[in-house]
Amino acid sequence: MPRYDFRCRACGATFELRRPMAQANDPAVCPQGHPDTVKLLSTVAVTGGAVQQAPSAGGGGGCCGGGCCG
Ligand SMILES: [Zn+2]
Repeated sequence: MPRYDFRCRACGATFELRRPMAQANDPAVCPQGHPDTVKLLSTVAVTGGAVQQAPSAGGGGGCCGGGCCG
């Protein structure tokens, strides 16, 4: 099951959740109980699944492509 990283905008905590891909975009609640969270981009190793991300991302004049510009 893929793992997703979230960050709470209320307290700034980051946390991980394991959930089915079908629920990847469902809202997550901070361990402290705050509902105002955002899903972070993270490297998720999923075997056997089709990755639909463009392989050319980050090859140009961007920053790091890993979310540091966010
Ligand atoms: Zn929180």
